[in-house]
Amino acid sequence: MDKKLIKKLQRICGRENVFSRSLDLLLYSYDASMEKGSADVVVLPQTVSQIQELVRLAVAERIPVIARGSATNLSGGTIAPQGGMVIACTRMNRILEINTEDQIALVEPGVFNLDLQKALAEKGYFFAPDPASQKVSTLAGNAAMNAGGPHCLKYGVTVNHVTGLDFIGADGELYSIGGRTALTPGYDLTGIMNGSEGTFAIITRLVLRIMPLPEAVSTMLVSFADIDSAANAVSAIIARGIIPATLEFMDNLCIRTVVQSLQVDYPVDAAAVLIIEIDGPELSLASQNQEITAICRQHGASDVRLAKDEAERTALWAGRRGALGAMTRLKPSLVVFDGTVPRNRLPEALRTIHTICHELNIQYGTLLHAGDGNIHPILVYDERDADETARIRTGCEQIMKTCVDLGGTITGEHGVGMEKMAAMTLLFSPRDLEAMRKLKHVFDPENILNPGKIFPQLRVDFCL
Ligand SMILES: Cc1cc2nc3c(=O)[nH]c(=O)nc-3n(C[C@H](O)[C@H](O)[C@H](O)COP(=O)(O)OP(=O)(O)OC[C@H]3O[C@@H](n4cnc5c(N)ncnc54)[C@H](O)[C@@H]3O)c2cc1C
Repeated sequence: MDKKLIKKLQRICGRENVFSRSLDLLLYSYDASMEKGSADVVVLPQTVSQIQELVRLAVAERIPVIARGSATNLSGGTIAPQGGMVIACTRMNRILEINTEDQIALVEPGVFNLDLQKALAEKGYFFAPDPASQKVSTLAGNAAMNAGGPHCLKYGVTVNHVTGLDFIGADGELYSIGGRTALTPGYDLTGIMNGSEGTFAIITRLVLRIMPLPEAVSTMLVSFADIDSAANAVSAIIARGIIPATLEFMDNLCIRTVVQSLQVDYPVDAAAVLIIEIDGPELSLASQNQEITAICRQHGASDVRLAKDEAERTALWAGRRGALGAMTRLKPSLVVFDGTVPRNRLPEALRTIHTICHELNIQYGTLLHAGDGNIHPILVYDERDADETARIRTGCEQIMKTCVDLGGTITGEHGVGMEKMAAMTLLFSPRDLEAMRKLKHVFDPENILNPGKIFPQLRVDFCL
């Protein structure tokens, strides 16, 4: 990048917050997806006005701007395919206010999800969206990806918990939308900002809905001798009108891998386990547990283990939360696929995924946010092996098509990014996509913000 421009950026953010050496850029050239692409410069602003100046400069110089949190996204959302400036918000990480009377928290964009959870827990509160990446993923990244997590089955995904936002638009102006209550007039701009993947604006502050911690929580690990039975039990529980706080599924390879890696006490001979958590008033839990246990037994559960105390509950969750990390023991690279199907199509989806991976000779394990029909096959491979990498890409394409054919979608919570752009045509007609492009155009007429994402192919007049 032009030295004069670097100097201007250093004047805005300070020398120590601007990186343009090739080694630094390499460190920012990937996220948790298969994609790679290097920006020309990375800046780490510390104030809203710095972001404003950065965006104004980028617009004047016609430089793409890629907002970034911790880059844990699994879809290539923070890759810079056309070069440009990465604005990483991780140094704006203050919790500005926790107000339990209004049940809101005000945060800067780079606060880690878990840091907020810890601060809230001290006051008897929690923030419902709890992506498994919560130790390091940022709240702006959660909003921009409309992140989900185990507890989103009962409480909803991030969009249901953001009541207001400040952002810097592509015109370099500061906007404030929504507010401190969920009920604000006019178009729901807060809603559409969630899941916009950095293509509309740079989020600079969030107003989040927080909730009192439930009076009691109960967690069980249920083992099944075959996958169909576990998947059918999931549908049966929800059909009975019980909405657990979480309803997670792990297959045998995931179970064995977390046992080896994390020494958790999971049944290594089970074909699948469900981790089922219910919460609410203490008095209501015993009867719900009995009902869930009965349904699981009717569907062939071989073992039902109820956590007796908080230590056992934490131990049960350790395996699920550490599953992705543990899978990296199998091969150096992995893809976490993210599709959804209607719950009652889960058995069929899992069988088809098995056939696809078997035919392509792909090693994989499966995690599900099963209550939501959200499927995460984890495909492990070695990216230095071109043939294996090509088979992985083919496998992902076939799995996406399978999800759509079964009435589902190509992504449940990980976003479209670069990885699923082409697959958008499986779901949306050219006219549907044009409606989305028009919306992007309203927010970002010059296509400065995170270009080369979401849309299969941008119209020429939108391109830089
Ligand atoms: C081990 C692991 C487990 C995961 N588990 C889950 C899970 O359970 N549920 C789930 O939904 N996801 C999960 N993810 C995916 C990922 O953690 C989420 O998408 C998360 O919300 C990304 O947050 P981040 O801070 O890393 O954002 P990044 O990856 O840095 O960015 C994500 C997107 O947000 C945009 N963005 C970032 N900051 C801003 C900003 N200030 N303004 C505007 N746009 C911005 C970026 O441009 C990009 O498009 C997991 C990932 C990993 C690696």
